[in-house]
Amino acid sequence: MLDSSVMNKIGMVTKIHTRIRTEPFKNNYDLVGKELGRGKFAVVKKCVERATQNEYAAKFLRKRRKGQDCRADILNEIAVLEAAKANPYVVGLHEVYETSSEIILVLECAAGGEIFDQCVADNDEAFTEKDVIRLARQILTGVAFLHRNNVVHLDLKPQNILLTSAQPLGDIRIVDFGLSRHVDNKSEVREILGTPEYVAPEILSYEPVTTATDMWSIGVLTYVMLTGVSPFLGEEKQETYLNISQGNVDYTEDVFHGISSLAVDFIQSLLQLDPRNRSTADECLSHPWLNTDSNSHIATTITSTTTSTSTADEQETSQSESEPES
Ligand code: ADP
Ligand code: MG
Repeated sequence: MLDSSVMNKIGMVTKIHTRIRTEPFKNNYDLVGKELGRGKFAVVKKCVERATQNEYAAKFLRKRRKGQDCRADILNEIAVLEAAKANPYVVGLHEVYETSSEIILVLECAAGGEIFDQCVADNDEAFTEKDVIRLARQILTGVAFLHRNNVVHLDLKPQNILLTSAQPLGDIRIVDFGLSRHVDNKSEVREILGTPEYVAPEILSYEPVTTATDMWSIGVLTYVMLTGVSPFLGEEKQETYLNISQGNVDYTEDVFHGISSLAVDFIQSLLQLDPRNRSTADECLSHPWLNTDSNSHIATTITSTTTSTSTADEQETSQSESEPES
């Protein structure tokens, strides 16, 4: 699907099909409400297309960053969005505008915001295990699609997974393909990127990036969605990196109180230090945790994770520490 002839050596694709419009964005759109979010180099604002009155999210990307021309990075982001058009769980791209200093991506608006907010929310607003099962299936369906097309996201984290609506809980949309790369067996992508807490051990040791790199992040993401705890986060960056490279994960009842043992097994299949031992997105989709239709054993509320008052009949959760092979 992606034309490898227009790829540079680190897996960026810069050939796009979307017409880049040069007329002023404000001729066709009105900005409404406040900012939807922002990242390092982008601001995202809600807007309304005048012709249709449809709402979109406009992502304003600066072309120059730290004195460097980053237009190719933005074209790569657009190329990935184009390539994933057929998948409902990847945010839709409507139009692209360019000015002398910026490129504006007009994206489908995911009005429910980041899943981050519900990961850190209090009990009554936090995800239940049932919610997480449904959302994890959607994330994996989107990521499996990307991986089948040799695209790795490389920045999967709760700030880049959005919801179509928060209440009632809608569907997920994967956003932010700013770090995405095309991987194939011809060229090796090795880069230090991503967000410390979610980054896979092979990134830290500068080994090649593969689709398994995303699977690690999905393991971290699932852990956070279920428990509200970031499994590797240390006091400082260095401590976080040490936790990751040692595969230091707490699977005890302290953190997983009230959460099924299948969920723990699922996470353990992803937080494997050796990328070759990690489940693929398709394997995850067949995991029993995501295929227990009745889910009768699964609690519909997430109980407090900070205090553990486990009783004898709550000992179902697996206490086994994974022994990462390397
Ligand atoms: P960056 O590359 O700077 O991290 P993102 O694409 O992640 O930029 O956008 C930054 C933030 O803006 C996101 O974390 C999210 O909160 C918000 N956002 C991005 N895209 C959308 C969208 N399509 N709908 C609603 N909010 C969005
Ligand atoms: Mg982002």
